Amino acid sequence: MRISDPKLLGRLSELGIELRATTKLSELTSLGIGGTTDLLRIAKHESIPDLLKLLDANHIPHKFLGGGSNLLVDDGELPWVVQQLVPPEPDIVLEGNLAHVDAAADLGRTVTFCAKRDLGGMEGLIGVPGTVGGALRMNAGAYGMQIGTYVREVKLYRAAARKIETLRGHQISFEYRHTSFAPDDMMLAVILELPSKPYNEILKGIRICNEKRRSSQPLGQKSAGCIFKNPPGASAGRMIDELGLKGHSVGDARVSDRHANFFVNAGRASAKDMLALIADVCERVQKTYGLSLENEVVVWNA
Ligand SMILES: Cc1cc2nc3c(=O)[nH]c(=O)nc-3n(C[C@H](O)[C@H](O)[C@H](O)COP(=O)(O)OP(=O)(O)OC[C@H]3O[C@@H](n4cnc5c(N)ncnc54)[C@H](O)[C@@H]3O)c2cc1C
Repeated sequence: MRISDPKLLGRLSELGIELRATTKLSELTSLGIGGTTDLLRIAKHESIPDLLKLLDANHIPHKFLGGGSNLLVDDGELPWVVQQLVPPEPDIVLEGNLAHVDAAADLGRTVTFCAKRDLGGMEGLIGVPGTVGGALRMNAGAYGMQIGTYVREVKLYRAAARKIETLRGHQISFEYRHTSFAPDDMMLAVILELPSKPYNEILKGIRICNEKRRSSQPLGQKSAGCIFKNPPGASAGRMIDELGLKGHSVGDARVSDRHANFFVNAGRASAKDMLALIADVCERVQKTYGLSLENEVVVWNA
């Protein structure tokens, strides 16, 4: 979608929004898949209510992009614009055991920044790409921990109320890859309350998690992490593996040989290829195990 109305362009500029026209989302997603649209870069949280009012008044559909590491975006010219936060400088500020983190901050850097200042707990998140906002949205976690455990407060734009609000941790429910945020809420910043731990101890945990990832995941290939959530009491990866589907492909979309719940773009896969592979694997799992797999990857259809 293109924004070309000069009046609208003028208003965006007044709001301090940077417009990057005709952006290829394949270059902003870890799967390397996605068509083109205009990207709106937001430097100031305060401009968001006016920006959304403006987009809605002009009937411009919009989506919100974090680090693009959990997304499967459709091919071709996309019928919505994409908004993304620009991280402020600094994007992490510590106050005792509290880390004040902007939603646009890189998650891995947040983990190491806090670790170096003897604040731990988030070792399992090392190696999870993307932003802190994206991690909050879906309660990212690994190796027995999840980000929600450490959330003291979230600043967010609530589309329903059309304003920026603050929620305390106990007002939010964080479950396995699911949160109680509304689908159109935008996470803007978070206060994480982290346990004190000596850096050496945190580093040991980080190294263990890094090694686990290196030995089981196709880290050099383009993926969005796990494609499916694990159904209660079952492992999506194990079922796909047991069906002999490692290496199974549709075009260049392929079930990883290393981890059956990682689907990789092995060349020039399209969204159509990846969606066909997802549908095929789902059908086979349903037929054999009687379980419907739910996507963990977020699909943005045109
Ligand atoms: C190699 C690899 C390993 C991974 N390992 C793990 C893992 O161990 N555990 C795990 O949980 N995930 C894992 N992931 C998935 C992914 O990294 C996480 O889900 C990550 O938290 C997504 O953040 P993002 O900023 O990239 O979000 P995006 O992919 O940009 O967006 C995902 C969804 O979140 C929404 N969103 C993003 N930012 C915001 C915001 N600020 N406010 C509101 N909504 C927002 C988007 O609109 C979209 O719906 C892995 C991915 C890869 C590629």
